[in-house]
Amino acid sequence: MTAAAFERTYVYRTRNRMRLRVPRRTHCHFLRDGGCGIHPAKPTQCRIFPFWPELVDSPRAWARTARYCPGIGKGPLIQIKSVQAQAEEMRQEHPKLYA
Ligand code: SF4
Repeated sequence: MTAAAFERTYVYRTRNRMRLRVPRRTHCHFLRDGGCGIHPAKPTQCRIFPFWPELVDSPRAWARTARYCPGIGKGPLIQIKSVQAQAEEMRQEHPKLYA
């Protein structure tokens, strides 16, 4: 599939963002029983979640997200430097979002 065909099928644009279309019966076209069906190539925001700048920088937003994300607070401890680096990668990837 070409990049243009992929975008026509799975992406929509807003003024500042490109977003994956959400299908009617599931949360994502690429969600499979075993997890993400495009794991090696998934978008930056998926790979970095939940370490988005707006969550890392706001304890309130973090707590609100943790109410629906079953992975937050589980697994090994992540060092703050790693979290900050991932948040910075998100800023670099989406400068218009974080200007
Ligand atoms: S990680 Fe992203 S691309 Fe993969 S299934 Fe979840 S929302 Fe979809």
